[in-house]
Amino acid sequence: MTAAPEAAVAAGPATVPLEVGTCVISIDTELAWGMAHRRDGSVRHRFEDEREVIDRILGLFARYEIPATWAIVGHLFLDRCGGDGDGAGPHPELVTPRYSWLDEEWLAVDPCSDLERAPSWYGRDIVDAIVACPVPQEVASHGFTHVVVDDPACTPEVFASELRAAVRVAGERGLALRSFVYPRNAIAQIPLLAEHGFRCYRGGRPVPPFAGEPAWRRRALALVDTVRPLRGSAVLPARHPSGVWNVPQTYLFAPVERGGRLPPAVWARRPIARLRQAARHRSLFHLWFHPYNVTADPERALVALDRVCAAAARLRDAGRLEVVTMGDLAARLDAAGEAAPVPGDGTAQPSAGCS
Ligand SMILES: [Zn+2]
Repeated sequence: MTAAPEAAVAAGPATVPLEVGTCVISIDTELAWGMAHRRDGSVRHRFEDEREVIDRILGLFARYEIPATWAIVGHLFLDRCGGDGDGAGPHPELVTPRYSWLDEEWLAVDPCSDLERAPSWYGRDIVDAIVACPVPQEVASHGFTHVVVDDPACTPEVFASELRAAVRVAGERGLALRSFVYPRNAIAQIPLLAEHGFRCYRGGRPVPPFAGEPAWRRRALALVDTVRPLRGSAVLPARHPSGVWNVPQTYLFAPVERGGRLPPAVWARRPIARLRQAARHRSLFHLWFHPYNVTADPERALVALDRVCAAAARLRDAGRLEVVTMGDLAARLDAAGEAAPVPGDGTAQPSAGCS
């Protein structure tokens, strides 16, 4: 008989235990950069609504005292850019990728303009708003121009130039980047993160341990897991051999895409069940989304997000959960010095349907 999934928290060889259930929220903030090189064009996006939605999300985080991690495309730190008049084009410091699936130059989309004329490509005001939140938020990196890192065209020189540029613009703003979220969750070249001063990245959603069960049993366990998450599907952070921490995502908050016209209370039910699981099993709940997942139906999505934040705050105030940023979690794990490097690259499975 196979081991019961209740037997243990899903612990890979490089995972480390947590002293208390832990909630992390990360938001991929990319405006037009996340969509500019996509060929499907299938995702609804209302860039003009994103600033208001970001302000309202920051309001929620302030009300419930939630520090979140904002993974921001480096180009959004700027309020203008352009060629230097010497024909070099924008950002000559970048080594740009030549993807087989893209006809034009990677930076052909760069408007070489400014915040006022091209607000979907610059976001200095957004960085300011995040930094000004009364509950301190973490400013993290989502690359400089959202390059797809796991493609062979993204050489180490390309990725290193993106990281350097992101670190530089953040440094000019007085911010030190500690956490990285891979564009499209395309995870690769992890040691370069450590070389550029990062302490953690958001990993893919681990495969539940019952994924290898017979089909009938897997379906039954998955159904139970949806209603009351099982101990076996709980997730822990893991240390990559390079020394950076994998803080795996566990829940994409995309209620409109997933739940259609269901009421917000139903949208919130599953993430709240996962929060309680994290408290129960001292595991990680890592919710992530893009502002465009909220702009798709902002009023209802914000009601659902409010419920999730309220539930996290209640568990925290009861001493059953900590709510931390990716960077703070990595710092705590570093301080605890608990994990020893292990063989293997520790990379979890990338998830589908994300950017
Ligand atoms: Zn530019």
